[in-house]
Amino acid sequence: MGSRLPCTEQLRVRLSYSPPRNRLRLINEFTIRETDSDKGRGLYTKKEYRKEEIVLYLEGNYLPYPTRTSIRIKDDKHIESYEGGHINHHCNPNTEIRIHNNFIGKNQLNQTQPSLVALVVAKKDIQIGEEITFDYETTEVDMAEPFECNCHGRWIRGKIHRYQE
Ligand SMILES: [Zn+2]
Repeated sequence: MGSRLPCTEQLRVRLSYSPPRNRLRLINEFTIRETDSDKGRGLYTKKEYRKEEIVLYLEGNYLPYPTRTSIRIKDDKHIESYEGGHINHHCNPNTEIRIHNNFIGKNQLNQTQPSLVALVVAKKDIQIGEEITFDYETTEVDMAEPFECNCHGRWIRGKIHRYQE
């Protein structure tokens, strides 16, 4: 069972021992499979989450530029995460990305060091078997490959285009 502490409390607790790095996390908690629509594969949870719980720590490679599957952390920092790359867009999503810029965590040697942590946090209660989604226009500024969303058929182009329609 997941902890029911609020997000920041849970983060502090979890980071007092280093963030989880094992791939079993994915196997145990998520399924990646074809969606019912034509948008390809999606990330589905095998666990339930309450609003404000951390669903996922985004881990992966950081790139200085965006790709089709990356998530923007800041202008010159984009994370390519296996799990994150499978999260589809939704205009009324069940999670949001939260960036903690100066989080104080501990490394393997138990030395305290500031770190940047990107989290996927539940925006509402999430049931077992639900697809995990977030709003791409909350992270991406100018999408390399705009697309029509499945929920409304609206063009998703990135933050700077958001209110121009
Ligand atoms: Zn939509």
